[in-house]
Amino acid sequence: MLSEDLYEILAQKLDASVPRLSPAGQKGKIPKGWKDYLMELIDPEDVKYLIKLSVGPNFLTLKRFARKIKKDEEEALQILERLIDQNCVLKIGSKKPKYAIHQTFLLHSFPPLSYHNYSKEKAKKLAELSFKNMVDDGWYKVYSGSSETPTMRVIPVHESIESKKLILPYEDVSKIIDDAKIIAITKCACKTRTETLGIRDCKENIPLETCFYMNHMAKFIIERGLGREISKEETKRLCKEFNQKGLVHTTENFGEGTHSMLCNCCPCCCNPLGGITMWDKPHSVATANYFAKIKDIELCERCGTCETNCIFKAITLSDNGPIVNEEKCMG
Ligand code: SF4
Ligand code: SF4
Ligand code: SF4
Repeated sequence: MLSEDLYEILAQKLDASVPRLSPAGQKGKIPKGWKDYLMELIDPEDVKYLIKLSVGPNFLTLKRFARKIKKDEEEALQILERLIDQNCVLKIGSKKPKYAIHQTFLLHSFPPLSYHNYSKEKAKKLAELSFKNMVDDGWYKVYSGSSETPTMRVIPVHESIESKKLILPYEDVSKIIDDAKIIAITKCACKTRTETLGIRDCKENIPLETCFYMNHMAKFIIERGLGREISKEETKRLCKEFNQKGLVHTTENFGEGTHSMLCNCCPCCCNPLGGITMWDKPHSVATANYFAKIKDIELCERCGTCETNCIFKAITLSDNGPIVNEEKCMG
C-alpha cells in the first residue's frame, strides 16, 4: 500500500475519535492541512505500524500490539519507542504499560514540547502547519468543542482587585493540585508554537514554562524528559504568580477528580481562549460558575484597572463605576 494511503487511514481513524479532524458539520472531509501535518510529523516507515494501534483512550498492551504487527515483543517495543519519540503515541502505566495513538489535541500539543529535538526547519514547518490547521482552517472550532460542551473551562481565582485587595483562596486550582498524585511542569505548547513562528506577543512578560500535567500524563512527560516534577507548594506559588501576570487558569471540562492538566493561558497565544479573544467562537471555553461583582461601589476610585485587566473585555467603566457584562464574564 502507498504510504499516502496509510496516512489517509490514520487520518480517518483520528476523525472517528474526539475531537475530530474534519470541520464542524463535515465529518469525513479531512482538510489537506491535517494530512500534510501528519506526513511531516510521522516517518513513512513507521506509519504502517502506527495505524495498528487504537486512538486514546483505547490502549493496547505490548503483547497485543506485537501480535497485530506480526513482530516479536522486543522489536515491537523498539517501534513503539520510535513512535513515542515522534510525538504520536501515549504510554500509560509502568509495570504493564499500554499504548495508544495520541488523541488529536495531543498530536497538536505534544510536538511543541520537543521542538528542540527536531531540526530548526522541521520545528518551524510543524509550527506553521499546526497554526494553519488551527487558525486558517478553523480547527479551533472542533478542537474547542461545541457551544454546549467546550473542551476547556476557566477556573476562577476567587480574588478581588478592589482597593482593599481582599485576597481569598484559589479554591478550585488548589483542589486540582491537592488531588494530584504527581505533577510535572512543561513548556506551554501554544506559546512555544507562536514563539517558534516569531509571533509571540507575551514574550517579554511570560515564561514558556506555564503548563502543569498531573498523574499518568505527568509521569509520561517526566519519563520523556519533556518536563520536570514539581511540588504542590511550588505549583500553587507559580499559579498565583501567573495569575498576577494576567494568565487565566483553565483545565479540561470534565467532572471533578479526572483532571490531567492545569493550563495558565494568555489571550494572545492560547488556542482555546483565542476563540473568545481573537476569533469568532465566543463559547470555546466553558465559564466558571461565578461572575464578577463590585462589592462596594462607594469604595470604587474609578481607576479603570479592572476594565484594562479584563482580557475578555467584560467590564466597561462608566461615571457610576464599572459595569460587568455577564454574557462576557468568564468568572
Ligand atoms: S491551553 Fe493555554 S497553557 Fe495550555 S498549551 Fe494552550 S496557551 Fe498553553
Ligand atoms: S475602577 Fe475597577 S479596579 Fe478601579 S477601584 Fe473601581 S472597581 Fe476597583
Ligand atoms: S469581569 Fe473579566 S476579569 Fe473580572 S471575573 Fe469577569 S472575565 Fe474575569
